[in-house]
Order: sequence, then C-alpha cells, then structure tokens
Amino acid sequence: MKLQLHWQILIAMVVGVIVGVVFQIVYDGEPTGWLFGAIVSLGTIFIHLLRMVIVPLIFSSIVSGVASVGEGKRIGRLGAKTFAYYFISSLLAILIGIVVTNAFKPGVGANIPVGEEFDPSTLSTPRSAGQILIDMIPLNPIEAMSSGHMLGIIFFSIFLGFAITRIGDKSRGTLQGFFEAFFEAMMKITQVVISFAPFGVFGLIVATVASAGIGLFITLGLYMITILTGFLIHLFVVLPLLFYFGTGINPVYHFRAMSSAMVTAFSTCSSNATLPVTMSDVENKAGVSNTISSFVLPMGATVNMNGTALYECAGVIFISQVLGMQLDVSQQFLIVLTALLSAVGAAGIPAAGVVVIFIVTQAIGFTDAQVGLIIGTMLAVDRPIDMFRTMINIFSDSVGAVIVAKSEGETNLYPALT
Ligand code: ASP
Repeated sequence: MKLQLHWQILIAMVVGVIVGVVFQIVYDGEPTGWLFGAIVSLGTIFIHLLRMVIVPLIFSSIVSGVASVGEGKRIGRLGAKTFAYYFISSLLAILIGIVVTNAFKPGVGANIPVGEEFDPSTLSTPRSAGQILIDMIPLNPIEAMSSGHMLGIIFFSIFLGFAITRIGDKSRGTLQGFFEAFFEAMMKITQVVISFAPFGVFGLIVATVASAGIGLFITLGLYMITILTGFLIHLFVVLPLLFYFGTGINPVYHFRAMSSAMVTAFSTCSSNATLPVTMSDVENKAGVSNTISSFVLPMGATVNMNGTALYECAGVIFISQVLGMQLDVSQQFLIVLTALLSAVGAAGIPAAGVVVIFIVTQAIGFTDAQVGLIIGTMLAVDRPIDMFRTMINIFSDSVGAVIVAKSEGETNLYPALT
C-alpha cells in the first residue's frame, strides 16, 4: 500500500531533522560539501516549482472563480464575508498575543546579547497602510505578474472575472471556458509538484537544522516559548472554535484535509509558495468549490495572516519589556491596530513578519536605533517561529474558505472523510 502524502512528508521532516543535526555536529554549524549541497538543492528545486505555478494558478483560478460567481451582488457578499472573517480571526490572534506576552513577560530582565550593530535599514522598508491600498492597483498587469506582485494580480484578476460576467454570451462562454480549462491544467501541474514535496521538505529541513546554532535559542527560550504558546492556543483552540461555530463540522476533519498544506507551509515559511498546495487541499480534500477557494485563499495568503499578527503584537510587547517600558492602554490599542495593518502589509514570504515589525515599533514611538539590535536578535532565531507563523497563516485562510463555503450553502464538504 502506498503511504499517504502527508505521512511521506512527515517522515521526510523527521529524517530531515536527524540528518540536519548530523550535519550541524559534523560541520559545527557551517555545513558544506557536495552532499549537503545536493540535499539543499532538493529544497530549492521544490520552492522553484511551487513559485513557477503561483502566478498562472492564482490568475486563472480567480478569473474563472469570479466569472462563475455571476452577479455583482454575490461578489460583494462574498467579499464582505471574506473580509469579516479575516478581520475577526486576525483580531483574536492579536488579543492572544497581548495576553501571552503580558502573562509570561519574556522580555523582563532578558539578557539580549549585543553582538555586532544591526542596521535596520538593511531590511527593506515597510509600506504604509495607504500605500498598500494604492499599490493594489497595478500600473501594468503584465508587469505585476512578472514581478509576482500578488495584490496587484489579485485586483486585476477579480476585475477581469467581473468583466467577463458583463459581456455578451458568446464572448463570455469563450473566455469562461478558456480560463476554466487553463485553471484545470495549472491544478494538474500543482499536483505533480506536490508529489515531489517529501523530497523538497527534506531538503528544506536539513538546510534549516544544519545551520542553526543553539546558543541564542537558549537565551531567547522564554521569548520563543511565549510566542509558541500563543500560536498553539490560536491553532488548536481559537481557529477550531471559529471553524466549528461557522460550519458545525468537527474541526478534526479540517486538520486532516489540510495536512499537506500545513507541512508545506511549515517547511517553506512562505504562504505564497504554499498557495498551490493550500488550494489543492481546500478544493480536493475539504471539497470547497473553486469559486469560493479562489476568492478567499489567494487574497488570504497576502492579507490574512493570523500567525504574523499574533507575532507582531507579542514581539513589540517583548521589545518594550526588554527596554523596561510600561505600555499604557492607549499604546496597547495602537499596537493592536498597527499589528493588524502590518500583518496585512507583510508579504507571504520568509521572514516578512520581522520586516514589518518596524511599522508597529515606529507607531508607538520607538526609534529604529533603540529597537534595531533587539529586532536583529529576534531575527536570528526567527526561522522556527516563522515556520509556525506561516502554518497558522495558511490554516486560518483555509478555515475562512470553508466557513464562507458553508455559509453559501455548499454541501459537498469533506467528501472522502465524512
Ligand atoms: N513567512 C510568513 C508567511 O509567508 C510571513 C511572515 O514572515 O510572518 O506567511
């Protein structure tokens, strides 16, 4: 009997950790050699394959999805539900971030190692909330596609899908048929790429584990435990409850349906790169229609980031604890608001969450010089946190897709599991 894909991936992960530790010990944290190079290439090839399919996949998926929604009223309703879900789930994540950091106080008395000066300007600058909205409109859709500018592609695709519903029957039929067929072919590519996941995940995990020094992890242990506790509460309590109240379905079904996407997110640290797998799981295993999934998931990969939102909030409270500053209620409120916006502004790529944390620290009045070193240290231990963050980000998107599907009267959910 052939082992199911998510088991193959999990086994690849475990073996990857073991092999990674061996490389770490043998090469003392700076692994080299052809064997290591070959293993790391497996991960790189996997990421390339995923990224290759993202743009044509989301383009065809959104256009055919929106075109099949039909009337403008329904598009508006879907949009409202989707954004309501993004907002509620992100807000809950942030509140958990506040509670755990105030309870554990990981920054109080933390001895942050002062290594070399960290220059915040070496990280790309975050964009303001207004700019994010303006940037959604691409000056040139082809350019947006070639540079992988997700929000721009999404904006143009929704617009095109909508336009298709408004044109004459003959043209509409032609275009709808074309985009549906194109989307089908992209999904096929995705499935082939996904079957390569165990090898890709193995390469990514070996690369991560082999080069991680553990000294800093011990110093920042309480910080990491705090954030991970918040993540676990959100993943195993809040999101399942939201799921259950929104759908009436046992959340265990959903965890099982999303297993491949979750492990892919965990090992790639990128919501965007995981998007093809997320879509495949949500449509093929959770049974959500393409119409809904293409509405909720691509936008969710960029906009709805629960793990990142929780991290922004917890991270900034941690920083203020390190600096010995007490935050009053209005400052905490400002953190909530900016954490929400910064999570929207974060791109679905590795370590994006650390870049946008400056939006929040600046908003409550810290200068880059004050926080630069602390953030640099946080960056040094960010990889494992990013793994969980990304997993929660995409899991929340998928929960939203099922809730919206259920509310729209879809009945064929979890066909293989129920
Ligand atoms: N890596 C995360 C993602 O792709 C973003 C982040 O760094 O928080 O979802």
